[in-house]
Amino acid sequence: VFDFDGVIVDGLEEYWWSSRRAASRLRDGSCDALPRAVPETFRRLRPRVHSGWEMVLIALLLAEAAPEIPAAVERDPAWGERLAAAHGWDPGRLQEALEQVRSEALAMDRDGWLARHRPYPWVPDRLRRLADEGADWAVLTTKAAVFTDAILRSQDLRPLWIAGHERGSKAAVLRQLVAEAGRPLRFLEDRRPTLEGVRADPHLRPVRCYLVSWGYLTASDGQNLPDDIRWLDPRAFGAPLAAWP
Ligand SMILES: [Mg+2]
Repeated sequence: VFDFDGVIVDGLEEYWWSSRRAASRLRDGSCDALPRAVPETFRRLRPRVHSGWEMVLIALLLAEAAPEIPAAVERDPAWGERLAAAHGWDPGRLQEALEQVRSEALAMDRDGWLARHRPYPWVPDRLRRLADEGADWAVLTTKAAVFTDAILRSQDLRPLWIAGHERGSKAAVLRQLVAEAGRPLRFLEDRRPTLEGVRADPHLRPVRCYLVSWGYLTASDGQNLPDDIRWLDPRAFGAPLAAWP
């Protein structure tokens, strides 16, 4: 079971492109307050993002030049909810704006929108080889499934299933899988707090957790990992499943 953003695909350029447009619509319709190039603050804060709406929130705060973003975000795991409430933004509305921008892009400039996503070079072929090892693979993401599906199809990648945010929390989907699966389950993520949540859940003991080295990680995410969160770099990922840590 693979997380999508930061595990299969690097979409940083698209995250900013769509967040900038969504934020502009929520303000006054003009993008003038925000640069076209990915701002350094956005890049640096991406590892703190759990859901898409938080990226729109960062864009809104950048447009307002809110001085407290970096310090507050880097100290507080619940920064999104807290800053959204403090600035009077409803997360549901931000998520809706983001998905509206993406839906329109998909309808009007499909190829251009898809081209803003780059699969990590060592991932697509490795995913295709999983079938030779008798392993199914699936995608569990906080992105909406419709966008995830379009990006995967553009790379000719066909997972067994895709569970987007519509399906509930990642932990809830994994609990359902564990109850049904009856076979080993590996979960690859680039967000350490998500993996820590999984290992804290007694129902999810059968899930083998991997933190991938190549996604949106903070400088300290790979340090002092507990034994049951395994570090996976591209070389280990490329090895046969039986040789994985
Ligand atoms: Mg991710």
